[in-house]
Amino acid sequence: MPSSSNRKYTPDRVLVIVAHPDDIEFGSAGTIARWVRDGAQARYVLCTSGQVGIKDPAVTPQEAARIREAEQTAAARVAGVEDVVYLGYLDGMLENTMALRKQLVREIRRFRPEVLICQDPTALFVGDSYINHPDHRAAGGAALDAVFPAAGMPALFQELEEEGLEAHETRKVYVSTWQNANTYVDITDTIEIKIEALKQHKSQMGDWDPTERIKGWASERAQGFEFAYAETFKVISLKSDEDWARCRGYVLPGHCKEPETEAEALTSASR
Ligand SMILES: [Zn+2]
Repeated sequence: MPSSSNRKYTPDRVLVIVAHPDDIEFGSAGTIARWVRDGAQARYVLCTSGQVGIKDPAVTPQEAARIREAEQTAAARVAGVEDVVYLGYLDGMLENTMALRKQLVREIRRFRPEVLICQDPTALFVGDSYINHPDHRAAGGAALDAVFPAAGMPALFQELEEEGLEAHETRKVYVSTWQNANTYVDITDTIEIKIEALKQHKSQMGDWDPTERIKGWASERAQGFEFAYAETFKVISLKSDEDWARCRGYVLPGHCKEPETEAEALTSASR
């Protein structure tokens, strides 16, 4: 049984990178809604716009993108997130390329997150009846390759400096995963928001009401804990609490401050 549920932790800034509209709602919207409620600022980055996700030959990929971006923006709003970036890669054809890595480094340096949430590129088979979508694996791999070490290396993608963007070291990565989890986030207070956000993806839900399925999964994940519903992550802490408190992800000299006391450092690190 994992020891950490990270019940009290709320990051200041959360950047979420996924492949498709609705991936966030299935994976991490309960956690994001909880953090936003507790004061976090969040931005979503969608690599594709779900252009081939509507199974109706009359709907062109361009039209599907328009519909699905609108649904994703509405879903974000339900979770309290106003800020959604669409990179416009083609659904079904996403690859972990250097071009995508650079774009994600730009997004990381632009937003300077404390936490990055992304998909699990190592998940291939899920149970006996599902193969994880290649776009999910590509988006997860590209996000991980961007956040470490690329975004924190000032000499890499140095041209981004011309856009006023400086290297940034993210404090923690939350890989949304159901098989490699080491962290169980209590979403009991926000599961209704997660479900409501998922329902905004009307082109995907059709007549299906996801309530029972989502509650079933979330309650399975909370088994053994004192709360009812959970989302699960593999959390990688890239920076120590002390380093984060001093530098807030800045790498170049001139940004870091010496904390006055150790207690102060710990307080600001856990805020
Ligand atoms: Zn997806």
